[in-house]
Amino acid sequence: MSLMRLAYASEATFEAKPVEKGVEPHVARILMTSRKNNAKDQLVGGLYYGNNRFFQYLEGEEDAIRRTYDRILKDDRHRNIVTLIEEPLKNRTFSNWSMKYVPLSRDVRKFLDEQGLESFEPASFTSDQCEKMIELIRNSSHDQKLGNRDDRKSVGEAPQVLSSGMKVGLIGAGLVLVVALVVGGSML
Ligand code: FAD
Repeated sequence: MSLMRLAYASEATFEAKPVEKGVEPHVARILMTSRKNNAKDQLVGGLYYGNNRFFQYLEGEEDAIRRTYDRILKDDRHRNIVTLIEEPLKNRTFSNWSMKYVPLSRDVRKFLDEQGLESFEPASFTSDQCEKMIELIRNSSHDQKLGNRDDRKSVGEAPQVLSSGMKVGLIGAGLVLVVALVVGGSML
């Protein structure tokens, strides 16, 4: 089994709708499907969306990457797909993520400024700029909250409504009740 990594840039074909919960709705659907499929295939990586452009980075088993990329290439939600990196990989560099999502954030704007780029046009990134983008995805903490929220939805888990403090309190109250019932019962 050999590992590989892949990065590409593309142009969205849909008209961006207002952001809901921090993510454009079309992108949210793509992320949900990606997280479901990529977790199964043990693919990790990240997706940037901004200026109507995508930049996606994937790493994992070569077969799984190629199957996934074949599906992505046929997807009519984007066009003008340019493969930027497609090469063997020795060790995985991401952990615990099926698909990180990073919107066109402050970090990316800083990167664009540093590179003297006016807008997010990943199709014309140099290989050095690609590596910097991948580093941004790897180090991004912004998406963590979004990721957790989307992951919950995609696996159908119930939202967390109790804080850990409240849980401890409820467990404590339950124990007191059990002790009271036992003591009360033994006194009858
Ligand atoms: P399906 O069950 O066929 O579809 C999943 C959902 O996507 C459904 O809600 C369906 O309605 C919707 N959908 C599918 N195609 C379209 C379409 N053309 N227009 C509108 N809605 C549609 N897939 C991955 O598995 N991993 C990835 O990392 C990944 N990254 C992507 C990045 C980009 C920029 C884009 C545009 C797509 C990406 N996809 C990714 C999606 C991929 O192109 C396929 O749609 C998906 O892999 C099909 O998987 P499925 O058969 O499980 O989903």
